[in-house]
Amino acid sequence: MHLNPYGEYAVLLAASLANDWPADRAGIVARTRDFGMTVDFPAASEDHLRVRGVIDDWLTVVDEPDPHRRAGILNDHMATASAYPRLTDHHDEGWHLHYRSDDARSLPHVLFAVISVGTALHVSTRGMHRLRRCAAGETPGDPCGAVVVDITRNGRQRYCSVRCANRAAVRRHRARGTADG
Ligand SMILES: [Zn+2]
Ligand SMILES: [Zn+2]
Repeated sequence: MHLNPYGEYAVLLAASLANDWPADRAGIVARTRDFGMTVDFPAASEDHLRVRGVIDDWLTVVDEPDPHRRAGILNDHMATASAYPRLTDHHDEGWHLHYRSDDARSLPHVLFAVISVGTALHVSTRGMHRLRRCAAGETPGDPCGAVVVDITRNGRQRYCSVRCANRAAVRRHRARGTADG
């Protein structure tokens, strides 16, 4: 996988797995293909469970609003998951960097490395605040807990979807109506 300078694909892959968790290992592998990964992962029976653990760890980054603490969690993840960068050209992808050793090829390990480094690239280049939960879910009782990766030009995306933005707008409108009597 090419981690572009913005880490965009890796962080979008993580959000996709968090927001729409695959039912089995094949579903996870298919998702990595959708987001541009070409490496073959040797299958292991605990892969599905362990990738869930990787995503749950990643969600602690999403749910930490303080930039310094968020950076601290990401640094811990990178210290655990990634090795020094290596140049590689597997599958005719063209030369690119891997942030793991060539023998660390299990599905959970590769995803942990790619997602932690990709997320660090995303927040360091686009902005520390560009990763969050959908703002609609901040209202008590609202069911949306989706992760929002903000890759917009102006960097002010707060909702996961138009549907959630509209629902929140309707609520604001109603609240104003009540206040006005
Ligand atoms: Zn690669
Ligand atoms: Zn939402």
